[in-house]
Amino acid sequence: MNQDELLKLDAKHLWHPYTSVKHPSPMHVVSSAQGVHLQLMDGRKIIDGMSSWWSAIHGYNHPKLNLAAKQQIDQMSHVMFGGLTHSPAVSLAQRLVNMTDDSLQYVFLADSGSVSVEVAIKMALQYSFTTGRHRQKLLSLRSGYHGDTFGAMSVCDPVNGMHSMFAKVLPQHIFAPAPECRDDADWRAEMIDPYRQLIEQHQHELAAVIVEPLVQGAGGMRFYCPEYLRQLRQLCDEFDLLLIFDEIATGFGRTGSLFAYEQAGIVPDILCLGKALTGGYMTLAAVLCNDRVASGIAADGAGVLMHGPTFMGNPLACAVASASIDLLQESDWQSRVTAIETQLKAELSQLNNSSIVNDVRVKGAIGVVELVAPVWEHMDWLPAFIVEQGVWIRPFRNLIYIMPPYIIESAELRQLCLAITAIVEALEVRQKRTG
Ligand SMILES: *Cc1c(COP(=O)(O)O)cnc(C)c1O
Repeated sequence: MNQDELLKLDAKHLWHPYTSVKHPSPMHVVSSAQGVHLQLMDGRKIIDGMSSWWSAIHGYNHPKLNLAAKQQIDQMSHVMFGGLTHSPAVSLAQRLVNMTDDSLQYVFLADSGSVSVEVAIKMALQYSFTTGRHRQKLLSLRSGYHGDTFGAMSVCDPVNGMHSMFAKVLPQHIFAPAPECRDDADWRAEMIDPYRQLIEQHQHELAAVIVEPLVQGAGGMRFYCPEYLRQLRQLCDEFDLLLIFDEIATGFGRTGSLFAYEQAGIVPDILCLGKALTGGYMTLAAVLCNDRVASGIAADGAGVLMHGPTFMGNPLACAVASASIDLLQESDWQSRVTAIETQLKAELSQLNNSSIVNDVRVKGAIGVVELVAPVWEHMDWLPAFIVEQGVWIRPFRNLIYIMPPYIIESAELRQLCLAITAIVEALEVRQKRTG
């Protein structure tokens, strides 16, 4: 099929993320991808600033990841995980256990980030049930994002999540304010008070606290300081709650440490991983938990965890995930992430002077330009304008942000930063014109 036919059929039949099939949004056809580049079918080659939503940390079409997939496909693509096991799943579990805190010993392999959040919530509620606590609510943070399935949605920010539409079917959880303090140096003791008050007030119904450590991703690309995590850990211990960290976006080096929780020096009881787990090759996620959770769930009668997807532990995805982790650990990812951070700070900070920019922030290999106003009224021209700059960046709400593959070269990163500057300038010009 040629490009026009593809686009026509796509618009006719396909739902894309958060779109209408009746009013389809403009699309670009990608024919291949290599390194940090997406090859468009119209002949243009653009630099990917999004890592396909945090996942393609090693870039596209990586020979080692390709090899892992090809070798595994010749053994078996998939077998059921009930009553059967295999080397790809066992080796991956071993890597995950070794690379995380010693207390995280048990691994549940799930099909996607959202499903891993479902499993984490299920673990927490089942633990509460089997240990006789019978508490059924979670404490979550405003501006949080944990996925699109119903359980995950119920702990997403109730305003910018989709709560209003589904209010009647979603379980009602407790929401604490979004963290405000970005730097431990600015921490004041009273900042934890609202969290303590909510936990005190609801302690008899709360089973767990769920947060994205240090970076709230799709809920607003907000950064906050490690002290919140230490304080939340203390509160969870004091009030006998489990602590769940959703590191689906932050895991595997993105914030400068292998996992964000390391920067706080504390460990959650349950940890969700996804996105970069397979280096962007396939959908796979993992839930790790400690012995307290595992023993608690086992305490009751049969004591089984009631979850088991058809494609659980998919060998193909596990093989690529192990190869991706090996690649990460063999690489100089830490200095690359630091170099990206330094360059993003240097090249984006002058945007703070723009009247339409509210804030510029950088953490690890994440750069965010927060505008004063949302961009959706510009979505008729902005995506095409961005591709004309030779880059792939996808603004949402009032945010222009990038989290490039770690392998990006400085000249390529510079092009991404120049494109962001051009986007801000173009928006500024229109702003002035419309007064
Ligand atoms: C993307 C994301 C999810 C959902 O993962 P999917 O694989 O898209 O289902 C959950 N939590 C966080 C923090 C995420 O960034």
